[in-house]
Amino acid sequence: MANGDSKAWFGDEPLEQNDPEIYNIILKEKDRQRRGLELIASENFASKAVLEALGSCLNNKYSEGYPGTRYYGGTKFIDELETLCQNRAREAFGLTAEKWGVNVQPYSGSPANFAVYTALVEPHGRIMGLDLPDGGHLSHGFMTDKRKVSATSIFFESMPYKVDPQTGLIDYEQLQVNAKLFHPKLIIAGISCYSRNLDYAKLREIADENNALLLADMAHVSGLVAASLVANPFDYCDIVTSTTHKTLRGPRAGIIFFRRGVRRTLKNGNEEMYNLEKPINEAVFPGLQGGPHNHAIAGVAVALKQTMDPSFKAYGKEVIQNARVMAKCLMDRGYHIVTGGTDTHLLLLDLRSKGLDGNRADKVLEEISIACNKNTCPGDKSALRPSGLRFGTPALTSRNLKAADFEKVVDFIDKGISIALEIKAASGPLLKEFIATMESETYQKKIATLRDEVETFAVKFPLPGKDVL
Ligand SMILES: *Cc1c(COP(=O)(O)O)cnc(C)c1O
Repeated sequence: MANGDSKAWFGDEPLEQNDPEIYNIILKEKDRQRRGLELIASENFASKAVLEALGSCLNNKYSEGYPGTRYYGGTKFIDELETLCQNRAREAFGLTAEKWGVNVQPYSGSPANFAVYTALVEPHGRIMGLDLPDGGHLSHGFMTDKRKVSATSIFFESMPYKVDPQTGLIDYEQLQVNAKLFHPKLIIAGISCYSRNLDYAKLREIADENNALLLADMAHVSGLVAASLVANPFDYCDIVTSTTHKTLRGPRAGIIFFRRGVRRTLKNGNEEMYNLEKPINEAVFPGLQGGPHNHAIAGVAVALKQTMDPSFKAYGKEVIQNARVMAKCLMDRGYHIVTGGTDTHLLLLDLRSKGLDGNRADKVLEEISIACNKNTCPGDKSALRPSGLRFGTPALTSRNLKAADFEKVVDFIDKGISIALEIKAASGPLLKEFIATMESETYQKKIATLRDEVETFAVKFPLPGKDVL
């Protein structure tokens, strides 16, 4: 497309004409989202307003630096945008600028965490986070006997803490003992698969005993924190990170809150001040990142404003209510839910008592257009053979499914799992044998019938942002 030969070079052609290949992939994905039941706990449907901000001209602007101190010209409106986003971030979580600073530039949740470690933990300094198989996140220092999987475990020394394999609850006592031995610089309180409120007061106590900083990574629950529906990390933590695209319903991005002012009063009466702002801001830029994604920052600002509308609190309440309905309906049908229920948007179904595992159940559910995650359960021996499924309600609650609809969803899941059990009984022990049987005509027929039912049900609920591509 040489200059002048076509209109394409100028850039004013709609995507449909300019790149039908990509356009069609997007349409296919949109249709998949519409037809399926999205129960992946980390996903959500952003609003039309958020998607519009994301697709805006803000994408075009470079603005390295921070409001008022940029390395680029033409940043007057970008400064206005970023400052407004910062203020909304504080307002959404009930914080004052006197006590809390905020950085809205991290590209996503993992880079936000890495920036915090880079800023506050020296290379090979020590961190403690909930182990990945126990419900923590990769970016909290995950490693195995064979491999340092997350870069966090390569550049920092990580010692995980665990849940009690019997109760599924975090073993704070063992963490307390181990922290005394390990002397971490930073303790991380955050989950990707744990359905109970975290005991931030206890974690604060353990951090203080070891002169460690306490970081809450509220990626999964930040929308519920904004709606004051789950335990509030800001009351106890020094730093709080989050993604903005999970329960918060914004664009894919990350955010870091850090304390300002007095950290504590020492025995001699002197006050020790926090020193988090400069190291964290410098770690984000110029330490790890270049130009901020201004279109994403605009989307974050829009999402944060939405969390302050009373309707968002109602949404959050329904998210939790719906997760409880799912947990109860599953338990009524004889399923085991880890910890016996949920305080949040997610639940973990342990399939061991049913004689099934996460891999096989997940395969069949995907075939019937139900999306969830296979997940390890407390006591699992191998991360490759997870025993459970993680379900979350934020996305479908955004499609306005109510409690009675979630009962129907559980019915579909139960039917899917019954098919998986039949297939397992009819196939050899290997997963590939299970898949081969699942792909046979008998089971494909059963699966197709159930998939039709699921999709007929799902399409009744419009997708938020449906008229944005
Ligand atoms: C999702 C998640 C992240 C990472 O977010 P990305 O945006 O995928 O990098 C970090 N921490 C926790 C606890 C998460 O659940």
